[in-house]
Amino acid sequence: MSGRSPENYRPPVDASYDAGQFRDIKDHCAVAGVIGPDIADASHTTYLMIDKLQHRGQESAGIAFTPQNGQSTEVMGGMGLVKTVFDEGEKARNPGSRAAIGHDRYGTSSVGSAEHHIQPVYDRYLALSHNGNFPTTDRLDEFLNRYDVPISHRNDTERFHAAMSERMRRGASLEEAMAHVLPMADGAASLLAMNKDVLVAARKKEGIRPLAMGRLGENVVFASETVGLPEGAEFIREVRPGEMIVADRRGISGIQSFQVEEGVEKLDLFEVIYFSSPQSELYGKKVADMRAALGAELYREAPTDADIVIPVPDSAIPAAKAYAEAAGIEYVEDGIIKDKSVKRTFIEPDPVKRREMVKKKLQPNAEKIRGKRVTVIDDSIVRRTTSEVVIESLWEAGAAEVHMGIHSPPIRFPELHGVDLRRQTDLVAHRRSVEQIRQIIGATSLSFLSFEGTIKALGIPAEKFATGPFTGTYPTEIGKIRDEIDFNQYDYYPALTASK
Ligand code: AMP
Repeated sequence: MSGRSPENYRPPVDASYDAGQFRDIKDHCAVAGVIGPDIADASHTTYLMIDKLQHRGQESAGIAFTPQNGQSTEVMGGMGLVKTVFDEGEKARNPGSRAAIGHDRYGTSSVGSAEHHIQPVYDRYLALSHNGNFPTTDRLDEFLNRYDVPISHRNDTERFHAAMSERMRRGASLEEAMAHVLPMADGAASLLAMNKDVLVAARKKEGIRPLAMGRLGENVVFASETVGLPEGAEFIREVRPGEMIVADRRGISGIQSFQVEEGVEKLDLFEVIYFSSPQSELYGKKVADMRAALGAELYREAPTDADIVIPVPDSAIPAAKAYAEAAGIEYVEDGIIKDKSVKRTFIEPDPVKRREMVKKKLQPNAEKIRGKRVTVIDDSIVRRTTSEVVIESLWEAGAAEVHMGIHSPPIRFPELHGVDLRRQTDLVAHRRSVEQIRQIIGATSLSFLSFEGTIKALGIPAEKFATGPFTGTYPTEIGKIRDEIDFNQYDYYPALTASK
């Protein structure tokens, strides 16, 4: 936990930090904020929200707030879980604080100093929280270069912040600066920005990352997902792609909406498949229901003959339940038991350590498994660590057969808008057939849900999603990264099911 003052919140810029690598730092993240006429403690309410959104990022957490005197913006933050950083909320208590924004960061700790990336990013003009990632910052950089703003030590969010700040230094209001800079960014952005007078919410025109707006009495609240809205709040609607909402002390009665860019609606399909909380709502549907529909569709496309169906906990639970129901096979929720003390296995860079961590985290329940033909359901296979370890453990626990069902298509292309799936050669489905993957992970059979089946089950047109990792089609400029991607993988497409 850093001290209150802005000076010691942000460590000095690490001179050894390789700016050229900033794109490797992924910001899946969460944002949340509140402003209004009768909020008792905006800072603490924001703490509660970023805590509810902890599943979106566990690396670091921060809050910016306007204290009771309303004369400044203060920031607090640190490395680790929200509850730890803010001492179970005690350190976030600022009675009378009028407005606040917060941030949970999802990141790899492997590049640069992790403290450097704690958000909100702030200076005397504004505080900014960003959920998303810019695969290219060429246009932002051009703007910053024009005004001689140094960029080499700044990550993508900081460049966005610096561009807004530069506009404000030259006399623009915060909302004018946002309206000017948002169209210059390429990629995913759900943003909250504030100074002592206003709180602005904005979403890049593709709406790749979600952003919900609600009311808490007369106050207006924003959260990355509906599940993050505070107790007692009412969900109003999503901030629309390309929209900017300006709010001030008047709260709900004073909000203004501006369509800064024409929206196209390209929510990241991964939000539905894995990232969002099952309790949240996306495109007007509950995420758990959408995952259940994917599970049922997987059974229709690729039925297995098994004695029990089990989920890889927790993300695959709704889909596994629905799969079992569609199949008329017994559902066993605790076929694998998750040790919740083992965290952040996904971003462990060392594959050997990652494997050990997953093995410890996901323990088979031998009593339920022994002698059974098991169908195990997971949401996705990325590099294969999880499926390989799970299958090995199920064999060790005495399973008679192990069928693996994945309720999404194979990931053959990198994810560039926020999840840490950047290196294409790390993806097990890159240049491999489903049969080759089955052999590697050692399953009796392996099935993925088809892209068409995914879309059909969700009941939402494919055009409304960003589907890059599955299709190689990206909704935004991706700059030079395009040259690094191997798009020619059609030979590997046809079969989505393989068995021994
Ligand atoms: P892997 O072990 O690399 O094949 O990753 C697949 C597993 O990680 C699945 O069990 C998913 O539930 C989970 N997963 C997928 N995407 C992410 C992500 N962005 N962050 C953390 N876990 C993820």
